[in-house]
Amino acid sequence: MPEWLNALPKAELHLHLEGSLEPELLFALAERNRIALPWSDVEALRAAYAFNNLQEFLDLYYQGANVLRYEQDFYDLTWAYLLRCKEQNVIHVEPFFDPQTHTDRGIPFEVVLRGIQQALRDGEKQLGISHGLILSFLRHLPEEEAFKTLEQAMPFRDAFIGVGLDSSEKGFPPRLFERVFAKARSEGLHAVAHAGEEGPPEYIWEALDLLKIKRIDHGVRAIEDERLMQRIIDEQIPLTVCPLSNIKLCVFEHMSQHNILEMLERGVKVTVNSDDPAYFGGYVGENFAALHEHLGMTEDQARRLAQNSLDARLA
Ligand SMILES: [Zn+2]
Repeated sequence: MPEWLNALPKAELHLHLEGSLEPELLFALAERNRIALPWSDVEALRAAYAFNNLQEFLDLYYQGANVLRYEQDFYDLTWAYLLRCKEQNVIHVEPFFDPQTHTDRGIPFEVVLRGIQQALRDGEKQLGISHGLILSFLRHLPEEEAFKTLEQAMPFRDAFIGVGLDSSEKGFPPRLFERVFAKARSEGLHAVAHAGEEGPPEYIWEALDLLKIKRIDHGVRAIEDERLMQRIIDEQIPLTVCPLSNIKLCVFEHMSQHNILEMLERGVKVTVNSDDPAYFGGYVGENFAALHEHLGMTEDQARRLAQNSLDARLA
């Protein structure tokens, strides 16, 4: 990555902590916790990182998360991510975590949260990286389950800045979560949601109008709907775009076809993020580098994208 790109101060606004679990750490945690893995070694696991769509990735992602059992595991996961941020001059992070991925395996909510929170606090003190944590609901599970998760989270209300919606998009439209999002907003939490990654522009409309989100996660399919494009430009609603993720999950065939710079030039508040960096081939820096290499992103465009990420912070 060119040095000027690395040196740009950036914020990361779309990152799943569980998706930053590198194969090496996954194997180390499996050994520490005495968990048998279906892969013989790190290389065999890496070789499994070839996905045809979002669901194929999610199946592996949930399998990987199974090695996270204790507070220290969640600390180590988060700390490893923050060290990468430091290297790439990411000065602020608003990561997601999926409590249901863990509570459904019998890991107490508190164990997950304490480990993450301690690492974020240490990151602020020792690395100078500020943060705001976002609790994300799994949309392939019923809204009732999301309500339970929100209830579990409320004793720790101050640990979060907002709620999100992730996991399998197609077939699980935002409208299914209208009530739980209303409840979260009534508690003073910001709302964001994944929409328009694999799902149609209608999902973005629903996320805006029914969930009243402040930021759209992905949103690259907004470009198919001119009226929607006009709205997100007029209202300057940020999009947390994840270029390498989009290629890895076949949202675009090749990076040279990605629409992020076209959106930027049309006045959309797009930002660059890594989504699940351990699985998709890179952190924020590598995402910027890919835009430079394959889309001819200029220095001026990179500066605007980085500035957008700082402007779109919720914390
Ligand atoms: Zn995501």
